Amino acid sequence: MLSFTTGRRILKEYFVASSIEEALAYLSAHHGEAQLLGGGTHLLPQIQRGEGVAQRLVDVSHIHPMTKISLQDDYLLIGGAVTLEDLLEEELVRQQAPLLLEAVQDMGSPSLRHLATVAGDIVSAEGLSRLSVALVTLEAEAEITNLTGAQWLRLERLFVRKGLSRVDSTAEILTAIRLHPWGAGQGMALEGGQRTRGQAGGTVLLGIALTLDATGEQLAGLVITLSSAETIPQRLGQVEEALEGRTTSEALHELPRLVRQVAQELAIPPQEAASLALRAFRRALEMARKRPLPSQGSR
Ligand SMILES: Cc1cc2nc3c(=O)[nH]c(=O)nc-3n(C[C@H](O)[C@H](O)[C@H](O)COP(=O)(O)OP(=O)(O)OC[C@H]3O[C@@H](n4cnc5c(N)ncnc54)[C@H](O)[C@@H]3O)c2cc1C
Repeated sequence: MLSFTTGRRILKEYFVASSIEEALAYLSAHHGEAQLLGGGTHLLPQIQRGEGVAQRLVDVSHIHPMTKISLQDDYLLIGGAVTLEDLLEEELVRQQAPLLLEAVQDMGSPSLRHLATVAGDIVSAEGLSRLSVALVTLEAEAEITNLTGAQWLRLERLFVRKGLSRVDSTAEILTAIRLHPWGAGQGMALEGGQRTRGQAGGTVLLGIALTLDATGEQLAGLVITLSSAETIPQRLGQVEEALEGRTTSEALHELPRLVRQVAQELAIPPQEAASLALRAFRRALEMARKRPLPSQGSR
């Protein structure tokens, strides 16, 4: 047992769990006093500022199955303790979910990416998290495990408001993420929010994933995720429904107006959201056209 002081708070114990069962048993034995720790890049500064409730930390970053990335049952499976650096280095991610690379390469510094985990990023529920917006755009699901078992939930359902997720990290573990690999006729892009050359970027972040039909001219599927510094990542269901089945040129024409309208309702800068949407859509379209469905390729 290790006991130490961080800022104004005295931590009674730092426990390194070696299995999911062990971590859950520890949380249960110290109900409400213990909290999970991933890379600690979000939680430890919080504790140092005297904001955390935890007196005991349960480090889940060394639980072997939670550090793996694999292809299983038609899903790309990413353990909750996978770090942002792991995502950047994993060939499967490059091949099957390039949007995640696009998301992570601009996040924080190399030392932050070395520590920060996928689950920690999601549970932190920050609106400008490029990883969370990319995962929602890829229609990812999260596996939440507690003493009663495990269940898969759509990722966007985990966010309550900025800084608050539905995952109770004093009682349950986000053990994994799963998503469908990149298919033919699909394109995806993320725009906004990043920091470049040390300068603050925009305050809006938008992700698009689209699927073209066999003709290559119509939208068979569309996902749009919008977020801002003050909100959580949200799917724009109304816009998606209005544009699915339309031709790509109709969609390009309609998209800025529809996004502006919804962004206004969400109190997100509408003009910024609309121009990000247009840029993301064009890039996603270009990507989808480079990897057409077989019937398109032979036309
Ligand atoms: C200098 C700096 C720069 C940053 N830059 C960025 C940036 O550019 N973009 C960005 O999005 N974020 C950024 N962040 C925020 C932060 O690093 C990320 O949110 C990070 O991904 C958190 O991951 P972590 O593993 O360190 O989480 P932790 O700090 O370990 O935990 C965060 C929360 O998640 C909970 N938790 C951890 N693991 C689990 C689990 N498996 N199951 C359930 N709950 C869990 C914890 O209890 C805690 O509530 C930055 C932070 C710092 C300090």
